Amino acid sequence: MTATATELPRGSVTQELGFPDDPDNLYTQTVNTMLNAADLINLKHRTRIILAQPKNEIMVHFPVKMDDGHHKLFKGYRIQHNNACGPYKGGFRFHPDVHLDDVKSLAFLMTMKCAVVRIPFGGGKGGVKVDTRELSDGELQRLSRRYCSAIMDQIGPDVDIPAPDVGTNAQIMAWFADTYMMSSAHQHHDALRCVTGKPVEFGGSEGREKATGQGVADTLAEMLPGIGIPLQGMKVSLLGFGNVNGWGGQILQDMGATIVAVADHTGFIRNDNGIDCKALYQHNMQTGGIAGYAEADAINEEDFYRTQVDVFIPGALEQMIKEKQADWLDCKVMAEAANAPCDPSGDRRCQEKGIEVIPAILANAGGVTVSYFEWVQNKNAVTWSAEQVDRELNRHMVVAAQRTLARRNELKCPLREAAFASALDHIGDVYKVRGIFP
Ligand code: NAD
Repeated sequence: MTATATELPRGSVTQELGFPDDPDNLYTQTVNTMLNAADLINLKHRTRIILAQPKNEIMVHFPVKMDDGHHKLFKGYRIQHNNACGPYKGGFRFHPDVHLDDVKSLAFLMTMKCAVVRIPFGGGKGGVKVDTRELSDGELQRLSRRYCSAIMDQIGPDVDIPAPDVGTNAQIMAWFADTYMMSSAHQHHDALRCVTGKPVEFGGSEGREKATGQGVADTLAEMLPGIGIPLQGMKVSLLGFGNVNGWGGQILQDMGATIVAVADHTGFIRNDNGIDCKALYQHNMQTGGIAGYAEADAINEEDFYRTQVDVFIPGALEQMIKEKQADWLDCKVMAEAANAPCDPSGDRRCQEKGIEVIPAILANAGGVTVSYFEWVQNKNAVTWSAEQVDRELNRHMVVAAQRTLARRNELKCPLREAAFASALDHIGDVYKVRGIFP
């Protein structure tokens, strides 16, 4: 008997598409996770090969006038991974380490994330290779506007909707939207929907700034009781204390958790009696980092990871948890607030140690969910209250967590594969009814 398309061995997809056999490559890692989950649910071969590559890879180079009068050339990307379920959606980052394969992975994860929470978007991601600390405000504004104009013909309110990510913020989204709206073809006000994460006074949504941290907290509140960890008094450590973990730490503290250790690019701190995340947030705003916070002890990297906690929340950059860090970890649960925080060796070590990993496509989906609410509000020219945003966000996160848990129980797999399987259930159904053109 000949094998049907869905019975093809897993390696055949990567071989068919000519992927290099590099297990340390973040893109390969993301595709392999998808293929593992695809095996579990017997996803059609055609859907696997479509998802294994982005639909469009846009690379741009553009000049920006610097304050001293000379022009500097910048490299930017916009990856449009998949739009079967709706317009491409995903942030763009300004960071010196922006590389094509990483942006492709992040775009891929956005497709999965939107499908896990069942919002009507596909996945995209963008970035510019730049160290914003070397730019003046004027240079940053000109860079943001030139990036927008470089990709303007490929994006749009019903085509591809960017948002903030590492190194970008609400002000940059406002410059981005203004540039899009001022261009001759897009002057009508509906064009405001071309980007989310805008300031509240210019079409932004209440609750967007804290949304990703809130979503992490909502997911933990839904899942931890089933794992036997009470929220009240649970011990937490945070890697990264920026937008996501700065807010997440404060919200978890309000729910009764004790934050005992925090790390960022400026250092590592611990206080076994608890770190007041509201005071730390203020310190971080004033000084640009957590180092020097008086109410906690400065520790080293190893002591940070070895701190015994119930939940460890990596919310900094990708691939920071390698085998060494995973070896040090002393936690029951890891909630991935950052995208792809573990490299393959770190991920394997966490599995061997029996750490329950709540994957990023579920745990940090709160940001894109409230971005969707912002887009809906802009489309309908209405504004929702903060309470309505919180309520709707919680509903989406709870249902997504329950769906993932149900898939885990049915498929008897780790939560990461269960979340991917839940996303693929939805995308597979959409392709089934849409068919493949023509
Ligand atoms: P951010 O720039 O506000 O914060 C990043 C944090 O990481 C900072 O505290 C920084 O000090 C820390 N950091 C950087 N390098 C570090 C290092 N070498 N060691 C320790 N800490 C380091 O970014 P963010 O918006 O909070 O995003 C964090 C992660 O969450 C990223 O992976 C991002 O893609 C992901 N994410 C963000 C959102 C969002 O809405 N902002 C949504 C989904 C996912």
